[in-house]
Amino acid sequence: MIDDHAHPFALAGGSLDVAALSLDIGTEPGAADRRQALGRSRLFQELLTVRLADHLGCRPEEVPEARAQASGDWASYVLGLFRDAGIKGIVMDPAWPPGAAAQLDRYAELAGCPIYPILRLEPIVDRLINERAGAREIVEAVGRAMGDAASRGWVGFKTILAYRTGLAVNPDVTWQEAGASLRSDVPVPRRGKACRDLIVREALAIAADIDLPIQIHTGMGDSESRLAQSNPLLLEELLHSTRGSAGRIILIHGSYPWTDELAYVAATRPNVWADLSLCNIFSPLTTADRLLRLVDLAPTDRILLGSDGFQEPELHWFAAVALREAWEKVRSTQAAAGARASWLDGVQHGIFEGNARALYRL
Ligand SMILES: [Zn+2]
Repeated sequence: MIDDHAHPFALAGGSLDVAALSLDIGTEPGAADRRQALGRSRLFQELLTVRLADHLGCRPEEVPEARAQASGDWASYVLGLFRDAGIKGIVMDPAWPPGAAAQLDRYAELAGCPIYPILRLEPIVDRLINERAGAREIVEAVGRAMGDAASRGWVGFKTILAYRTGLAVNPDVTWQEAGASLRSDVPVPRRGKACRDLIVREALAIAADIDLPIQIHTGMGDSESRLAQSNPLLLEELLHSTRGSAGRIILIHGSYPWTDELAYVAATRPNVWADLSLCNIFSPLTTADRLLRLVDLAPTDRILLGSDGFQEPELHWFAAVALREAWEKVRSTQAAAGARASWLDGVQHGIFEGNARALYRL
């Protein structure tokens, strides 16, 4: 598959702490202990541990130690995971950890497949808001960075506006309102809604001009996000506007839990693709249901599959395996309803690989 949405993974191994792989990323005193205490009660941790034990040829209790041993040859261990997952290319947001964007060759080498980077906009926006830049200055800087990324061969862009001021973008926001919204002392991540709305509106137009797609975070995220502000339907006014309908937009993470809403938007807006990622890691057993809801309504040429793997390569692997298993169930449901095998073969190729290759021109 082409992994439509993922992040960098560790460049060196060691003992694996599955409990630390969590949507709860709190850093307050006691947070790490909480993750440790709750980890083994999560289905995700149980399934990852049992499956990894199988992959490593050990008992589940022995996974941390067996993984530490396998890390002795990190390159072949990681390559084995990506091969087993069938990942042939990765669309990667390398905005985190710091310095990751300079290591793209190393990620490609370890994963044994091409890395296709995308540029996340918020690091630029947040830095400039923090430096008290004005709206025009920020939009110009974002435009320059987008142009630079395109000229370096990066394949698209990404916004995590849902983590900042939410997806209820006013497409008619004025430059004056944008400027005024910056004159505030609320913490930078939540500052400047009107300006952030305007930046995303303009970024969509720039992406359309450059002719590269842009991913928009929707639905589930880590504990820094505000889920109520991540519903894809909040984007409707933007998607009906001139700039919002100009370029190619991918709504990511299956918009968990709003998968039906995502399917509807992809079915009705001419420029929207639906990506299913992240929830396959943390809600693995509902992945088949979400995928069925997407193929049941959205054009299957507009569906993309990703891992949203981060931090450890086992997450990319686990998420890809969850998607494969989900597709087997969804495929048999469609076959039982009468869909022809040849049609299903086409859908399978599209959602796992062909749609991403066409969209990002890989
Ligand atoms: Zn992500």
